[in-house]
Amino acid sequence: MLARGVAFRLKAELPPEAKFLLEDFRLAVNNAIRAGLQARVTSRNALSKLVYKDFRKEHPNMYAQHLVSAFEVAGSVLKNCRRRLRRNCASRVPYVRRLMMKTENQAYKLDREYGIVDLPIRAWCHVKLELLVSDYHRRYLDDPSLTVGSLTLLPDRVVVVFRKEAPRPYLPESALSLDTNERSLDGVFVKDDEARAVKAVFPDIAIIQQRHHDRRKRLQKKKAHDRRTSKRLCRREGAREHHRIEYRLHQVANAVISFAEDRRSAVVLDDLRGIRPKWNKELNRRLSLWPRRKLHQIIEYKAQWRGIPVVKVDPRNSSRTCPICGRTRDSRMGAEFECECGWHLDRHINASLNLLQTAISRGMAGGLRFNPGAFQHDVMMILYDPVTGARSEPNGTSCVGAVT
Ligand SMILES: [Zn+2]
Repeated sequence: MLARGVAFRLKAELPPEAKFLLEDFRLAVNNAIRAGLQARVTSRNALSKLVYKDFRKEHPNMYAQHLVSAFEVAGSVLKNCRRRLRRNCASRVPYVRRLMMKTENQAYKLDREYGIVDLPIRAWCHVKLELLVSDYHRRYLDDPSLTVGSLTLLPDRVVVVFRKEAPRPYLPESALSLDTNERSLDGVFVKDDEARAVKAVFPDIAIIQQRHHDRRKRLQKKKAHDRRTSKRLCRREGAREHHRIEYRLHQVANAVISFAEDRRSAVVLDDLRGIRPKWNKELNRRLSLWPRRKLHQIIEYKAQWRGIPVVKVDPRNSSRTCPICGRTRDSRMGAEFECECGWHLDRHINASLNLLQTAISRGMAGGLRFNPGAFQHDVMMILYDPVTGARSEPNGTSCVGAVT
């Protein structure tokens, strides 16, 4: 089962009954957390056995299902806390401050045509929440293959989880192999006997990270006398950075995914798990900051949702092996890979050729075949470029705004 949370803004302010419910829910969660800590239990059922009766007395009007999901939320908070304690991280006694409420799909109704949530508060009291529905939301509401899962109510929005059976990945007719670098994804697109270089550039991600890093450094220095303010401001910087980067990662992933889907390609990526840290503090910081794992996760997740096969390949030696003769070169290299046999190519694209060959040799890309000799050096297909936001086709036509 795949799940995806979709956030809806509300048309009007939350009615007072719902506000009270949010507060009651928070109270119930915090009480359950306290009880769970004392009795050393974390599961929903154990919590339920422990405190349900007392809770019923304290909140005689609350809808029973909500109480059960309060136990569930408390249970997950307790589990997180326990995990932190096991890792010997300093952890305060957990306490939920944010107003939130979660409920399972049997406890609320969603009118998918009009976008109205019917939420029971207590016996004989329901509230209707009107959601703001855009085209993006319509895609989820109108898709009959999606079922509705849990709902999270927040003071200003509602998050509905949509679920679906994972579609079977198609049999690939072509392959898109991508090497992940600091400022771009570089690779090849292979179909039949043709192979072309492709590129998705995102130079701004590294720039944004550097800028926010510098800003945080400055803040810390300036507010060194006031830890609390410094912490608060840094957190705000961090949230901003996160949003800006996340947005760009999704744009890149969307471009890759729709390119692959249009051509029924398998996507080949380097498996980043085995990357070892290098003895260079500055480079290490940049590599660990640069969210390539995150980019891969987004690509894989979107691919799974649409049934696009993704293959992950161990990238060891991929940037210093010759795809023609198989010689492995010394690791010191410039931007160009050159081999004794006469083969030379952009280092990153060469790496993606090797990834593709590994994937094919292990039978991970269907029945696809590929001859590196057929590689065309002169044409570059741009998958994504933040300047235009467009994908340009090799024949010169470009589809502006096709990145959705
Ligand atoms: Zn060679």
